[in-house]
Amino acid sequence: MKPYLLTEMTHSEVRDALETVKLAIIPIGAHEQHGPHMVESCDAVLATEMAKKLGERLHPYALISPTINMGVSHHHLNFPGTISLEPSTLIAILRDMVKSLKKHEITNFLLLNAHGGNQATLNVASITLSSDLGVKVYYAKTTASAKKAMEKHIQSPIFGHSCEREVSEALYLAPHLVRTDLLVKADWKQGDWKKLRPGNAVQGPYQYEEMTANGCIGDATRSSVKIGREIVDEALDELEQALTELLKLKSPTMSSP
Ligand SMILES: [Zn+2]
Repeated sequence: MKPYLLTEMTHSEVRDALETVKLAIIPIGAHEQHGPHMVESCDAVLATEMAKKLGERLHPYALISPTINMGVSHHHLNFPGTISLEPSTLIAILRDMVKSLKKHEITNFLLLNAHGGNQATLNVASITLSSDLGVKVYYAKTTASAKKAMEKHIQSPIFGHSCEREVSEALYLAPHLVRTDLLVKADWKQGDWKKLRPGNAVQGPYQYEEMTANGCIGDATRSSVKIGREIVDEALDELEQALTELLKLKSPTMSSP
């Protein structure tokens, strides 16, 4: 079923859709370097494509808002082209979007995020906007719930940026993002960054170029459309089930193409 895409609807079409819509999905990405083999809009495009697929599955209960195509990317700024929002800016944009959509009587929101660097900010946004605006703001990393497919296909001990996971997702969802003739693995560097990653006693900031000379982690040369499809489909199953239960949606299409 074709999803409700707010950017492509007239106001009368939106009015009719609001008869059934219970949830607005807000896709959130980033504009940041993705190594030599992927373009900088990657996260924004992947968030948009995931939102469309989730919107199809949750039709007619979900409406997809315009994508926020920049995010919190300070750690990539020393590579050419990256644009970063301050966390407070991202929260301010979300506040304005949620307030506007609440005016149209939408009170449930999913921040569908494709960029790991946004997660801490979205946690704050979820708590503060839900409390301040009297709505429910949920958030999810687009494919983080695809645990079985990741376990099966991802071998790199550190992955998550322009790696076999993300490039595979792009090959499946938006292949124009990938320079397939330039795929490389991480060019790791030694440094204190290893001591500051999640799971250590102390965590803290480091720049991407301290960790990897080419801006990638993981091993993109292992990417494939098949891996991307398995990860995306499992994540969509998880997201669809969680939202159907949370929002008590009676009869979504529940289709798994
Ligand atoms: Zn990315």
